[in-house]
Amino acid sequence: MTVRTRFAPSPTGYLHIGGARTALFNWLFARRNNGKFVLRIEDTDVARSTGESIQAILDGMEWLGLTWDEGPFFQSKMFDLYREHAKKLLDAGLAYRCFCTAAELEARREAALKDGRPPKYDGRCRARVDAPDMPYAVRFKMPASGSTSFNDIVKGGISFDNSTLEDLIILRSDTTPTYNFCVVVDDATMGITHVIRGDDHINNTPKQIHIYNALGHGVPVFGHLPMILGSDKTRLSKRHGATSVMAYKEMGYLPHSLVNYLARLGWSHGDQEIFSIEEMVEKFSLDSVGKSSGVFNPEKLLWLNHHYIKETGEADLVPLLLPFLSALGIDASSDARLAAIIKTLKERSKTLIEMADGAVFYFKDKVDYDAKAVEKFLTPDTLPLFEEIQAGIAGITAFEEPVIEAAFNAVLNARGLKLGKLAQPVRVALTGGTVSPGIFEMMAAMGKEMTVKRLNDAIGFIKGRAG
Ligand code: GLU
Repeated sequence: MTVRTRFAPSPTGYLHIGGARTALFNWLFARRNNGKFVLRIEDTDVARSTGESIQAILDGMEWLGLTWDEGPFFQSKMFDLYREHAKKLLDAGLAYRCFCTAAELEARREAALKDGRPPKYDGRCRARVDAPDMPYAVRFKMPASGSTSFNDIVKGGISFDNSTLEDLIILRSDTTPTYNFCVVVDDATMGITHVIRGDDHINNTPKQIHIYNALGHGVPVFGHLPMILGSDKTRLSKRHGATSVMAYKEMGYLPHSLVNYLARLGWSHGDQEIFSIEEMVEKFSLDSVGKSSGVFNPEKLLWLNHHYIKETGEADLVPLLLPFLSALGIDASSDARLAAIIKTLKERSKTLIEMADGAVFYFKDKVDYDAKAVEKFLTPDTLPLFEEIQAGIAGITAFEEPVIEAAFNAVLNARGLKLGKLAQPVRVALTGGTVSPGIFEMMAAMGKEMTVKRLNDAIGFIKGRAG
């Protein structure tokens, strides 16, 4: 049997962290088992579904690398299929026409509540044999007694009392199909073998099982994933920080950081925290998905992002960083120094935004000196040091770290000074401030031309101040 999983988002908003985790687990399970992963857009709620949300979901999936093998299928384009199946159930006597009007249903609901009875549909039209010329909905006949059990691959055995199930409407009087019915028709006709979804759908499962049975279709394996919680143990929401996948892209996260983070949010493999895609695919199993909710931890995600920024090669980071530089008004697309610049910033950048911010000084015509740094380091007594190092640097032909370091050492040794005495003023001259990447690698990345110019600028500045 080929494993077939699906991700079935309702396009009523962006791709949420929780949805992405569901998609990821389905994707991993399919890949693990050499199966197929299907993408289905559940847009039957025409009023709430938007093209913008559909695009946002597809963008989020693509960004995360959760490629689908089939689809996207759109429920809104398959209404005829659902109507056909409803008709089959009607013909087989497993569903029936319900002529009750909205007002009647509401009145009975209120009366039931008043009498302390459950307000579910009372089955009035079940046995009806006449067919008045009136609009009707199609209701599914749920068993009235007994219980429905299934073995959830994540949660274990689950049982529902059938008396809690209502004869649910599968086609409304305007002939549009309803949610639980579409899900089952699709999962059945698409041959889905494993339904892995959020545990907010657990209550739908017994209803869906009866529909599978009525359609004469085998019931898939169900796995319900615990909700993701925020730090205060309430359901993850905007109050806890960004919940949209694409917001993390905008905040300068690498897609794999989020994928690795989401994989570990509910699933574990010993104590291992860092997983390549290949390792995840190799090790993923639904048995190791926890029964209890995971708590979303933004610090851990940031830690992972820092890890992956450090691990990713400079050449691969170039295209990822360019848009963040562009947002700062810097076009570095044809700057041959970029990979070397990135190398100096990886260690100190937890996000691509931090990296872009940290890179700005490499691209400016002139640096703005920090006022405090000026007072401390761009002083008249540093002038001779600047002049000597400037001359040393200007004389270098192969502008590389060891050669630059040798030029520094020549100045320091001649004067019996420690590195900091020279490095700090030079740092201010090159970056404007006192914190920067390592001085030699930074100069090598900056290039000789800019380095010499900035040393000259500093010399001119000190002289100007001295008046
Ligand atoms: N469309 C549903 C949702 O977005 C998912 C349904 C399912 O996975 O069965 O929550």
